Amino acid sequence: MLRLSQADRNFLIDLRNYGVLTDVFPTLIKNANGICIVTCADGDHFDNVYSYHRNMMISQGLTPRIHVLSSHGGALVLPLRSSLNKNRRGDNLLEMMRETEELKDIHTFALEAHAPCGAAGLAKLNIYKQFQLHRQADAIIQNQLPGAQVICFFHALWENNRERTYFFSGINWRKFLQEKGDEIKKIEMACL
Ligand SMILES: [Zn+2]
Repeated sequence: MLRLSQADRNFLIDLRNYGVLTDVFPTLIKNANGICIVTCADGDHFDNVYSYHRNMMISQGLTPRIHVLSSHGGALVLPLRSSLNKNRRGDNLLEMMRETEELKDIHTFALEAHAPCGAAGLAKLNIYKQFQLHRQADAIIQNQLPGAQVICFFHALWENNRERTYFFSGINWRKFLQEKGDEIKKIEMACL
């Protein structure tokens, strides 16, 4: 199983400290009629990702109704210039998301990015670029599927196999970028 590098771990801790990665507030998620998780297919983490949503619905008194769209890199295939968007994978995923709304009447999409992500590594995406693509994917869906609720999650594998799921806050990501300013290049280089 892949492990986080020290630089990636430091980056994620920084994001936690800045409130970019926050605890999950289940009450904000409109999942009463089910949820579609758009996730990386990685079999080392899928059980935890799926169980997380299943347990959350059960704890909310709901019957789990989870529609899964998985591909290598999950929603990071959506942006046109993403190196994970090979052979129109982004278009195909978006089409399946449209079908999910039509077929299942599910309009809440949980975008699950994660680290360490083998698919992202294969596509030469460092962890910083993964966060950038995650934001872009969010914007694409908001634009293409008006009325859908899009929630960005991030799943991290820490030391001792501790797996944790966080909300990824777009507002605090923008603040983080502004406050870090010139330091961002250095941070990105460290994540290579
Ligand atoms: Zn992955």
